[in-house]
Amino acid sequence: MYKRNDFARRSFSVLGAAKSGVAAANVLARLGADVLLSDRKSESELQSVMSQLDERVKVAAGRNEVREGDVVVISPGVAPTSTAFVEAQKLGSAVWSEVELFYQLCPAPIVAITGTDGKSTTTELIAHLLRVANPDVVVGGNIGNPLCGELDRLSGTSIVVAEISCFQLVTIDRFRPYVAVFTNIADDHAYYHGSHEAYQAAKRRLYENMRAEDYLVLNLDDPAIAGWTIDVPARRVPYGVRQPYAGGLYFKNDKFVSDFEGSSTVIATRSDLPLPGAHNVENALAALAVTRIFGLEIDRVRTQMRTFRGLPHRIERVGSIDGVGYVNDSKATNPHSVVAALESSEGPLILLAGGADKNTDFAELATVIAERVRLAILFGETKEKLRLAIGGRVPTQLVDDLRAAVQLAHSQAAEGDTVLLSPACSSFDQFKSFEHRGECFVEYVRALGMLGN
Ligand code: ADP
Repeated sequence: MYKRNDFARRSFSVLGAAKSGVAAANVLARLGADVLLSDRKSESELQSVMSQLDERVKVAAGRNEVREGDVVVISPGVAPTSTAFVEAQKLGSAVWSEVELFYQLCPAPIVAITGTDGKSTTTELIAHLLRVANPDVVVGGNIGNPLCGELDRLSGTSIVVAEISCFQLVTIDRFRPYVAVFTNIADDHAYYHGSHEAYQAAKRRLYENMRAEDYLVLNLDDPAIAGWTIDVPARRVPYGVRQPYAGGLYFKNDKFVSDFEGSSTVIATRSDLPLPGAHNVENALAALAVTRIFGLEIDRVRTQMRTFRGLPHRIERVGSIDGVGYVNDSKATNPHSVVAALESSEGPLILLAGGADKNTDFAELATVIAERVRLAILFGETKEKLRLAIGGRVPTQLVDDLRAAVQLAHSQAAEGDTVLLSPACSSFDQFKSFEHRGECFVEYVRALGMLGN
């Protein structure tokens, strides 16, 4: 671990002036380090960023620049296969993600959550539950606010609950959470890492520095996670719904059961969790496991769980028109999360799907669509690919964009149907972000008529 004073004597090249790069550069400047922040965007495009920067940060616009011998803090948007990444490795003395920098400076224990799906929901639920015993719980990371931006608020009595993406893990060095949670591993982001194996390897770096006093919370229902050989001494806390996991947490007869440290206790029942779907039972098991690790009182945890609201854009009910329900699941950016939405929805479904192509294989998803959906309305870059995967097993209609998809769904829906936006793709072909896509969906639905419940 570096001492804060060491930073004043070092120099850093920060690549990428998005949120995490700006937060990292500011922290380093305040510590007295020599910092150069560069970005391929032009000076005029970086105007809004400039106003948020500490004046001691040097800026290079229109190019990525790494000074020889610097520690490079690299944006999670720079893929390991890109020229900028390779250059950084060649010229820099080390390449860190912003998360690594945060770790080097963080005074508090870290609960880190990673996995393909359920990271944000599990992160927020863990934080919500931990707050029953400690109001000083700080949430950050991939969920939207860079961890470095939270450093000023942290003390030794804080707890950090950090959502960590595989992009941030590629460039850690000593990052070591006190608790690491793995929700599940499905196909996603192979386009970035080069292969599914490389994607898993990136995720698994989360535990590489963990020690005997740390905890690994593992979804052992997940075949990929169950198959890992983990060669660090951290204590394992398994969880899942498939079997009663000794020493861990499981779900049986509608009850959340803890066998943590060997005594079986019912912590809560299904009705204490106000979120839909079997996938959210898994997320809750992970969160409850963390409360056992921190030794929280079970009654208070159960009461607190009842007040969890869930997050927008995740199977979020928008309202209904003429007996047709509209559900916004814009955050479902891969097949695995769409399957979760389809399996947790009741009644006839009209699915709206499509978006930017990440080289995803839609074969398994198409089988579940064929079982659960009565009409699939497809839009965006992947619409034809999705139609081919479904292969006529259910009716499909192709439209240009989400607005047309919502309008068509409205005209085709019958009372009792649910119109579900669960795209299976990222949003960048037609939207700024998944939030933007979800907000547009809500706006288009509103435009159809006044929403009731
Ligand atoms: P992440 O941060 O990993 O993207 P979120 O909690 O934001 O996870 O959820 C993303 C999408 O995945 C949503 O559509 C949500 O309904 C779905 N989802 C949440 N938890 C799970 C899970 N455990 N397994 C599969 N899908 C899930």
